[in-house]
Amino acid sequence: MTAPARTRTSAGLIRAEEPVLAHNYHPLPVVVARAEGTWVEDVEGRRYLDMLAGYSALNFGHRHPALIEAAHRQLDRLTLTSRAFHNDQLAGFAERLTALTGLDMVLPMNTGAEAVESGIKVARKWAYDVKGVPADRATIVVAAENFHGRTTTIVSFSTDETARTGFGPFTPGFRIVPYNDLAAIEAAIDETTAAVLLEPIQGEAGVIIPDEGYLAGVRALTERAGCLLIADEIQSGLGRTGRTLAVEHDGVVPDVLLLGKALGGGIVPVSAVVARREVLSVLHPGEHGSTFGGNPLAAAVGTAVVELLETGEYQRRAAELGVVLRGGLEQLVGRGVVGFRARGLWAGVDVDPAIGTGREISERLMREGVLVKDTHGSTIRLAPPLTITAEELESALASLEKVLGG
Ligand SMILES: *Cc1c(COP(=O)(O)O)cnc(C)c1O
Repeated sequence: MTAPARTRTSAGLIRAEEPVLAHNYHPLPVVVARAEGTWVEDVEGRRYLDMLAGYSALNFGHRHPALIEAAHRQLDRLTLTSRAFHNDQLAGFAERLTALTGLDMVLPMNTGAEAVESGIKVARKWAYDVKGVPADRATIVVAAENFHGRTTTIVSFSTDETARTGFGPFTPGFRIVPYNDLAAIEAAIDETTAAVLLEPIQGEAGVIIPDEGYLAGVRALTERAGCLLIADEIQSGLGRTGRTLAVEHDGVVPDVLLLGKALGGGIVPVSAVVARREVLSVLHPGEHGSTFGGNPLAAAVGTAVVELLETGEYQRRAAELGVVLRGGLEQLVGRGVVGFRARGLWAGVDVDPAIGTGREISERLMREGVLVKDTHGSTIRLAPPLTITAEELESALASLEKVLGG
């Protein structure tokens, strides 16, 4: 066997007659080689403002000095123990994360999808052990247009045909209701319901913000029905919306909180299920686990992330700069933008399809030195690092205005 012929183009893109990388993504044609703060640099030294921030995994920007320092310090001491032994970083991380979120216990995992899977397992176990649902009958109510990850169980309750088709048979036990519809949730809950699982803001769907009172209504319904509320804040959480958690905007405390993305500081994958004691105490030794979950490097970086959030600075920046973002987008409505939804430093912008698809707009913005990602046809999503300056944000908005032909 000889290796397939491969040529490196001037842009650093690897072109192979026989592709060697699974084609499950369609990236913009930019090859990033370095980054710092809000800026990334490609292999030819061109600089771009990062207005996607790794889908919110880079809330603190690229290579935040405090996070890099924490990682370096830990790399020089201890990186992995497995959970067969204790490590000196994990307990402190869990303590700080519970203090930050106002919940009681932490189950550390790695990726977002694993946090969701773990949250589902914990909710089912709670339903059997605490609520008394008959074995294998537990149901979980979820919302249409959700995005919770890519595992076989999670795509079982996706309504996105591209994400599902070809991946069955699917996991049973989920009831899908329209998002932002309290009556539908009420109708779907019965004595088998372990939990309602929701994104407080649906990110992938286009930054869909439910009506005021919806999340509080779901909280009241789940309390009355005696089932759990699981908030998937993997994208919405950790400062993005101007609060530590997006549920805070509605004064809601979930029973189970799913965190990921920014929890790893853009350095390592770190996710967590954070929950009330009554819920996470259903797990006993051997019933769930992860080789890498809670490893000392992840815990050290996660602790440093929590320390940044404890200052309140990033939440404050997201809230204040969110006003700039909203103001800029308002100026563009009717001038290429047909509508937008924004909270904090997070916006879904619907572009006039006559001007271009979301993909085409993203490519034009790339040529202007601004990186964004489209979602669903003509929507682009803006989610810059929370470290962005007002001037940088304004320049990104000016680039958007330019590519929309304004
Ligand atoms: C990204 C995301 C996930 C999945 O996280 P991965 O780390 O990609 O597995 C789950 N839920 C939400 C809301 C997300 O945005």
